[in-house]
Amino acid sequence: MNLEQLRQNQHMIERVINSHKNLGQVATLVAVTKTVGTEMMEALYENGIRHFGENRPNVFVEKYRQLTHLDKAVWHYIGNLQTRQVKDVINEIDYLHSLDRPSLAKEIQKRAQSVVNCFVQVNVSGEASKSGFKPEEVVEWIESIADYHHIRVVGLMTMAPINATEAALRQYFGELKQLQTQIEKMGWLHAPCTELSMGMSQDYEIAVEEGATFVRVGTAFFEGVYDE
Ligand SMILES: *Cc1c(COP(=O)(O)O)cnc(C)c1O
Repeated sequence: MNLEQLRQNQHMIERVINSHKNLGQVATLVAVTKTVGTEMMEALYENGIRHFGENRPNVFVEKYRQLTHLDKAVWHYIGNLQTRQVKDVINEIDYLHSLDRPSLAKEIQKRAQSVVNCFVQVNVSGEASKSGFKPEEVVEWIESIADYHHIRVVGLMTMAPINATEAALRQYFGELKQLQTQIEKMGWLHAPCTELSMGMSQDYEIAVEEGATFVRVGTAFFEGVYDE
């Protein structure tokens, strides 16, 4: 494992993110560690990373248990979450980025022991393979969960198509930003909706330019780190 390469990759990512500020704020970098082991996560932590993203309940739980010594680590669950898996993770995570359907909200409300910070996932590109609410239904749905007191809608999340052009990416991210602003303006106590989770290794620079406040970056951290 080439730790110098890991540091260089991280600095490159942070330089890009730090060069764009929204209202003076720099986007939070979530290191998506779903493809790496706990040793690599400890190395990231050594380099100053505090936000970790995982997308498999069993893997997350296993790593979480092994990494309790990472003081002030912040845990993001970013993947599809089956209803039956909610109870396994919901009381350990700090953020859920993938609140993508009403039945999931219902189960979270039932299983959570305190308020869970959630991003509502929106399918802005309309791809059949992507989960999430349709843009035209998300505002009304968020309003309808005001009495789910275990859910705080901190923002919106989206995933762009793999091979989207820059123009298409700007359109999708811009649309999510518009929706987020619209919901924020409602002033709903249960849905402050100030945050935007968008951008991955392929497109995080465009995402921060379009207003992302959380980016979820995996592959870009680990390029060349395992070579030799
Ligand atoms: C894997 C994953 C990422 C990170 O993707 P990379 O291309 O490796 O940066 C971000 N968000 C979600 C939801 C993911 O599943």
